[in-house]
Amino acid sequence: MAEKKDYYEILGVSKSATEAEIKKAYRTLAKKYHPDSNQGDTEAEHKFKEASEAYEVLSDKEKRAKYDQFGHAAFSQGGGPGGFSGGFDFGDMGDIFGDMFGDFFGGGGRRGQAGNMPQKGENLRASLELEFEEAVFGVEKDIMMTVSDPCDHCHGTGAKEGTHPETCTQCGGSGQVRYNQQTILGTVQSIRTCPTCQGTGKVIRDKCTYCGGTGFTRQKKKINVSIPAGIDHGQTIRLKGKGEPGRNGGPRGDVLLTIYVKEHALFDRNGYDIYYTMPISIVQAALGAELEVPTLDGPVKYDIQAGTQTHTKFRLRGKGVPNLSHNKVRGDQYVTVVVQTPKNMTEQQKDLLRQFEEASKGNAEETAGTGNGKKKKGFFR
Ligand SMILES: [Zn+2]
Ligand SMILES: [Zn+2]
Repeated sequence: MAEKKDYYEILGVSKSATEAEIKKAYRTLAKKYHPDSNQGDTEAEHKFKEASEAYEVLSDKEKRAKYDQFGHAAFSQGGGPGGFSGGFDFGDMGDIFGDMFGDFFGGGGRRGQAGNMPQKGENLRASLELEFEEAVFGVEKDIMMTVSDPCDHCHGTGAKEGTHPETCTQCGGSGQVRYNQQTILGTVQSIRTCPTCQGTGKVIRDKCTYCGGTGFTRQKKKINVSIPAGIDHGQTIRLKGKGEPGRNGGPRGDVLLTIYVKEHALFDRNGYDIYYTMPISIVQAALGAELEVPTLDGPVKYDIQAGTQTHTKFRLRGKGVPNLSHNKVRGDQYVTVVVQTPKNMTEQQKDLLRQFEEASKGNAEETAGTGNGKKKKGFFR
């Protein structure tokens, strides 16, 4: 698909142009390229359409804001003037993308432009909550969704059994009608969806009683989903072809499944890395120890040196979360040890610590610890 030109570029205005500047730029261009004064000039016709499309978006505060944020992706593709009916095309995106779009483009088919051409069905949204480990290592899940299917009784035509839909007389079956539209520059012809058949090109005289003439019935369906290892909270998975049925032979829409991940009792996750805070005793810190560190793969052994300070960090390589696109590659686990000062000690324990304090005299540098030993030494002497 040819890349679309930037709307601001088309109108020749800056991104910070005021409404008045945009209007002025459009008037100039529209006058220059208006079909009335450029009969048969397809280049001019194209420029006129381009300018009108740009103006329609940039002159509307809401549409301009969406365009500034998402570019052309904010609007359905190929939309001419009057064509923005709200369908949002996820087609070019990967299967998994951050959930930044929300619901504001909503459903709403693209029938406005498509006439009775095949159209993809609407996308459906759903969410699924996962355990922390399920998101890390991937999991198979069943979700329940209410989805439409072609009606069994009328086979999707919407016409009562024994009857058939008839070709719409207003549009002759094309689903589109031409309108003359008054603009600031005179009459412009535009194409709209046929109001009689809503763009289907067909009219149903006797409606199917099972589906009310829609041609579809809704039912709950179980959909099996393979959640890939490494998925993160807030990400969305696209289940291709599991959404609403298409029209006029178009493919089904997709299900956009947003993932929510429960918190873990021990671990925090940031991207593909895991963070864990491990309490250690004053004795382990002072004498060194072999720690059993919990990881996503079970406990692993790690030696800390004698004289380890509180909040010392170390890294366990490859103990993090598998990368979504390279499953063999995993993040790391970062461990922070926190020395626990003993509380509620017995008399014997207190005695031992007093003895320790006594024995430490003259060894102030060691016990004072943190690098300013020299000063301390001077003070005690
Ligand atoms: Zn039916
Ligand atoms: Zn019609």
